[in-house]
Amino acid sequence: MVQRHNCDVIVIGGGSAAFESAVAVRQNGAEKVVMLEKAPVEQSGGNARFSHTGFRFVNSGQKELREFIPDVPQDLYDTYHLPPYTRDDLVADLTRVTQGRIDQTLAAHMADKSNEALHWMLECGIKWAPEKTHLVNGKRYFQPGMYLHPKGGGPGQLRMWTEIARNLGIDIRYRSKVVQLLGDYRRIEGVRVITPDDEYELTARSVICCSGGFQANPEMRARYLGQNTDFMKVRGNRHNTGEVLRMLLDMGAKAAGHWQGAHMSPIDAGAPAVETPVMEDGTGNQMNRYDYQFGITVNTEGRRFFNEGEAAHAYTYAKTGRAVLGQPGGVAYQIYDRKGIDLFHYNNKGNATFFEGDTIAVLAQQIGVNPIVLVDTVAKFNAAVQDDKPFNKGVLDGRRTNGLEVDKTNWANRIDEAPFQAFPVTCGITFTFGGVQINTNSQVLNTEGEPIRGLYASGDVVGLFFHNYPSCTGQTRNVVFSLAAGRHAGRAN
Ligand SMILES: Cc1cc2nc3c(=O)[nH]c(=O)nc-3n(C[C@H](O)[C@H](O)[C@H](O)COP(=O)(O)OP(=O)(O)OC[C@H]3O[C@@H](n4cnc5c(N)ncnc54)[C@H](O)[C@@H]3O)c2cc1C
Repeated sequence: MVQRHNCDVIVIGGGSAAFESAVAVRQNGAEKVVMLEKAPVEQSGGNARFSHTGFRFVNSGQKELREFIPDVPQDLYDTYHLPPYTRDDLVADLTRVTQGRIDQTLAAHMADKSNEALHWMLECGIKWAPEKTHLVNGKRYFQPGMYLHPKGGGPGQLRMWTEIARNLGIDIRYRSKVVQLLGDYRRIEGVRVITPDDEYELTARSVICCSGGFQANPEMRARYLGQNTDFMKVRGNRHNTGEVLRMLLDMGAKAAGHWQGAHMSPIDAGAPAVETPVMEDGTGNQMNRYDYQFGITVNTEGRRFFNEGEAAHAYTYAKTGRAVLGQPGGVAYQIYDRKGIDLFHYNNKGNATFFEGDTIAVLAQQIGVNPIVLVDTVAKFNAAVQDDKPFNKGVLDGRRTNGLEVDKTNWANRIDEAPFQAFPVTCGITFTFGGVQINTNSQVLNTEGEPIRGLYASGDVVGLFFHNYPSCTGQTRNVVFSLAAGRHAGRAN
């Protein structure tokens, strides 16, 4: 006979959304909060373990942000260019990159609540650091709307949340896999859990699902995301295999978000198949290859296939991996000349696989691309570069090519100064976009559109995004909907 235990609120998962939900629900009146994390402690923490976890949130700029980063010396802070990032900016970014498909109620809720949610994190004790900047004429510019990440990146964020959760008496159980949801499409009652040496049922008045996406499950990737997606490398956590999402759908939860879509970015072709390593200081993933706007990208046939200068990488990187996957062999080469190399923002070249040559023809031979084709691609690209607008790395400069089959519409500089370098890249999946439908209280809705009583969701298990994603909105979504879930579930009896 399987043992049955009880608590007030169960949180499924051990990532950032789970910690935020557990802390919020505990602060809002739930006494006995249990977090069930499938992974062993050393592999716990979900995707945040592999990320610097930048946050894009609504704020009034320079003066307000000082509260988050009081340790930055004043003379350095004075060089920061921190314009307000408004509610309308966030809604517009979410709407534009999802091609108008994002649930407008949830997008508006995210925008309305993101500022409060970040201040809540600050009050909880999360410490912050500034994002990377680039220096132009003595001023330090940020990527639009991307100003802050927790100190120590994702690993730092997880360390801080673990301590906060422990201080609140939250019961964090590792190696505790949820294998069944108890209840039906009207009401959740609890979960069934398997650990290495036990199996039990845990009942609760509320369950908050923060079990992530299905990106680490090749069978589900192939089923939902399409051709060759089972070959993709997984940037994050190996434990995001989607079984809780499947249980939610089987229980009658409504599907939402883009089930054939996912966040897929260009990463080093030599990256491990799963769990790409984060930098030692947590400030980014070593395998990211996001400087493509300063060069061109070609496939193994030596031809360009997307507009590398469409927009700042923050608005294009999450769909560029898919474009690479669609090329022969699922591999491409980012090609730069000396000028492009000098502009690298991510500066993680030290960890990168790359090739170098004094001429494009030599470089082509090194990467096994037909030199005649690559030399021709570069020559045609160079001839198409328009000089009417000056190059400006910090803004959409409109310096473009004209007349190519695929034009580059910003930051188009000729590739003409040795040394030339080629970085082989492939597609790395970050998280999947298909998930369950929630409302602004983070209650999971059933296929009739009614809340399933007691059931909440936050994080990647929620279906929200379509096609593409503005950088750093995953973390913001997590905290906004975890806080909403915690407040609603904490009050519920
Ligand atoms: C390399 C990388 C860089 C990123 N950079 C950023 C960034 O800068 N900004 C940003 O906003 N987003 C970023 N993201 C995305 C973001 O980190 C994720 O979307 C986010 O962390 C998802 O949080 P989550 O808590 O929903 O899921 P996860 O963090 O994936 O956690 C899911 C948890 O559920 C657990 N779980 C799964 N199944 C079960 C089960 N059956 N029983 C019990 N537990 C289970 C897993 O073990 C895991 O702990 C990045 C992601 C990666 C991989």
